[in-house]
Amino acid sequence: MAKQPKDPKDEAKQDAEAPEEGAEPRREGRLSRLRFSKKKDMPGGLWLKCESCSEVIFRKELEEKGRVCPSCGFHFTVPGRERIAMLIDEGTWEELHTDLTAIDRLGFVDSSPYADKIERAMKRTGQSEALLCGSGRILGREVVVAILDFGFMGGSMGEVVGEKIALAAETAARDGKPLIIFTSSGGARMHEGILSLMQMAKTCAALDTLNQSGGFSICVMTHPTTGGVTASFASVTDLILAEPGALIGFAGPRVIATTLKQELPPGFQRAEFLLEKGMLDAIVARSEMRETLAKLIDYAQGPPSEVVPTPPRAERDVPATH
Ligand SMILES: [Zn+2]
Repeated sequence: MAKQPKDPKDEAKQDAEAPEEGAEPRREGRLSRLRFSKKKDMPGGLWLKCESCSEVIFRKELEEKGRVCPSCGFHFTVPGRERIAMLIDEGTWEELHTDLTAIDRLGFVDSSPYADKIERAMKRTGQSEALLCGSGRILGREVVVAILDFGFMGGSMGEVVGEKIALAAETAARDGKPLIIFTSSGGARMHEGILSLMQMAKTCAALDTLNQSGGFSICVMTHPTTGGVTASFASVTDLILAEPGALIGFAGPRVIATTLKQELPPGFQRAEFLLEKGMLDAIVARSEMRETLAKLIDYAQGPPSEVVPTPPRAERDVPATH
């Protein structure tokens, strides 16, 4: 993890160390520093730089706009809890399987022990794992939802994430509800070795079982969705949607360019490019997500009975005359 300054004043302190040359040039220096410094340098700051249009945005304004850039419309990564709040009808969310936590089976140590990393992530996010799953309603439609939170170890998939996806698919099949998955992930959690890679097969099998039982599933890939998550459960649902501009891929573009020794086409691994190539079914703006999901659920499973009354049996059975 990058070292994170405790508050935005740290940025100001760095500027204060610059030689004093009068008010105006100093202010310019500060602005250019903001513009060209990396986003990770000011995670808790008042301002951040849009990674798409490079505009400096007031963080509060970005949050009020559902984390969509007010300048270019880029869809920033949304923390899991915030996604639930913007997606699920108020007061209907019931979280499931919060008792599942990762086990450091390999005693894995890199820059620090894996067990410590899990503990820190749990403390920081107030979550037991990277995947939040539960049931709720979207505009009145009952759904089972699974959301990968990038803020918990990069939304990486280990045993617990795999197990929770499988449990969510089983719940959806048992209750006859659609399964809606949102992904943002760096891929498989390497700290768990082969056990993390095994989740790719496991989650695909769980979604296949849901499919065999007549269930319906949608995955919404959000920025960024990469690695073993793209290459497994995120790509095998009935419908695959994405948010605009989302980076979606398996290996990173630099690795691919180096391996192929070729220049990559413009827009490579972005949602719009993948829609054109047939990997996605649709790109849906965040502001239209709830309405679109509700429409797709109705299309797959029929409209909810309390919203649209079912016509009487006799009328429906009248044979067509043409
Ligand atoms: Zn922007």
